[in-house]
Amino acid sequence: MFNAELIEKAARFRGVDEDPTRNLSACPALVLNADYTPLSYYPLSLWPWQTAIKAVFLDRVDIVASYDREVHSPRLDMKIPSVIALRQYVKQSEFPAFTRFNVFLRDRFQCQYCGSHEHLTFDHVTPRRLGGRTTWENIITACAPCNMKKGGRTPKQAGMPVYQAPIRPTSWQLQQAGKLFPPGYLHETWRDWLYWDVELEA
Ligand SMILES: [Zn+2]
Repeated sequence: MFNAELIEKAARFRGVDEDPTRNLSACPALVLNADYTPLSYYPLSLWPWQTAIKAVFLDRVDIVASYDREVHSPRLDMKIPSVIALRQYVKQSEFPAFTRFNVFLRDRFQCQYCGSHEHLTFDHVTPRRLGGRTTWENIITACAPCNMKKGGRTPKQAGMPVYQAPIRPTSWQLQQAGKLFPPGYLHETWRDWLYWDVELEA
């Protein structure tokens, strides 16, 4: 249950501009691995507060920091955890899942034909009708106008070279890509856990 997929799902619920402290339904907990490193850099290892509290009661996590907000029930008053750490270490898989989000992340949320950040879609580099498959190596981020313009042609036929040949990234490569995208909002208690491994500049 507590795997990378769930974390990604949780992160997707969260709008970039959202202030998690504004309402109770959006007080996500940053999830740290048992060695206190974030489970994933981006999307942030976030769980909805309900999941975080459930995990606390199942003894699966330790609370590292909390919001000032409290949840009340007949049986309990409890501050909502803002940072939690798994008790059991989760081994990261070498290769990330082939998801829409991860393709965007690999491509830095940038159209691989023109560099635009707007109206992003996916394009089969080798079109499906020419046998192109839906794989890491054949799917790239493309803006809608470029997608239309390219149509069912190869980049060569369309005269639209691809910025970066698509590859299947390792989890490490994807995390590196994630570091280019600081999240729109960081709760102050998260910062220490997110930036501890950033290299110091000479
Ligand atoms: Zn484009």
